[in-house]
Amino acid sequence: MRQFFKPLTVEEAVKMKKDNPGALYLGGGCWINNGGRDGRGESLISLEALKLKACEEKDGTYALGAGLTFQELADWKDCCPPLKEALMFMTSRNLRNQATLGGDLAVGPEKSCLLPLLLALNAELETGEGQSMALEEYFKQYPKEGQGPLILNVRFSPEKGRAGVRQIRKSAGGLVVLSAAVWLDGSPEAPKAARVFVSGTAEGIQRLKEAEEALSSGGSFSEEDLEKAVARTVNMEGDLKGSKEYKSYVCGVAVCDCVRSCREALK
Ligand SMILES: Cc1cc2nc3c(=O)[nH]c(=O)nc-3n(C[C@H](O)[C@H](O)[C@H](O)COP(=O)(O)OP(=O)(O)OC[C@H]3O[C@@H](n4cnc5c(N)ncnc54)[C@H](O)[C@@H]3O)c2cc1C
Repeated sequence: MRQFFKPLTVEEAVKMKKDNPGALYLGGGCWINNGGRDGRGESLISLEALKLKACEEKDGTYALGAGLTFQELADWKDCCPPLKEALMFMTSRNLRNQATLGGDLAVGPEKSCLLPLLLALNAELETGEGQSMALEEYFKQYPKEGQGPLILNVRFSPEKGRAGVRQIRKSAGGLVVLSAAVWLDGSPEAPKAARVFVSGTAEGIQRLKEAEEALSSGGSFSEEDLEKAVARTVNMEGDLKGSKEYKSYVCGVAVCDCVRSCREALK
């Protein structure tokens, strides 16, 4: 590392990044210090002094500071159950004490365990440039790690809907095969809206529109039909975590598990 910046304000941080385009924002450093820099990040811009730790739930709308660690969020008394569940997918407490919300989102679709849930919850980001943007849009515009603007906080409102999450690993504490998240709104039997996201696919993260339509069409559907629809449309690739067929099948099972959790919570 050649340079280490310690801005005291958001404006300073944004200016330092503009003046040093190759620099990386430093959250908890969990990824950056693990060699995840790919040769980049000769300059680091510490976010520590910005204290992006505000944490609020008001009338069902959550506003979470990007500097909150996984453990701080999981310990927060108002943390919503699916978020807490997704935070605990990071099984090591040491890592949870280090990794931040902003770092997890910025690190990108392949590595983040919170992304599917926050996408299913239609989350928005507030950036250091004062912009508000949908999380889905952030990834369309900045698909590669560390290229996006400074994330200040994440906001979402589950409205009346409920979310469910599921992660499949190769073995307990082993490699993550996929993470799935579903958000449903309406009655448990006939939801009127649905959002379904899965990470670990060939595209990194995928929105499963066909499953969303099946869930929100008002007609009855069996779990077997849903499992098959997911397995047919999810774009998996075989690798050391499993064959394409296995991953597609287990994705269908994970999505059905999420749907069951949502329906329980909607009752
Ligand atoms: C051993 C190991 C295990 C891991 N296990 C998991 C896991 O189980 N689940 C999981 O989801 N992830 C996992 N990760 C991936 C990753 O480290 C984490 O997602 C973590 O949350 C990164 O957060 P951080 O604050 O430490 O990020 P950093 O390492 O500080 O930064 C990561 C990237 O995010 C950028 N960044 C940081 N904060 C911001 C911000 N506020 N705005 C814009 N850009 C920012 C940095 O510039 C950098 O490009 C693991 C990583 C390692 C090394």
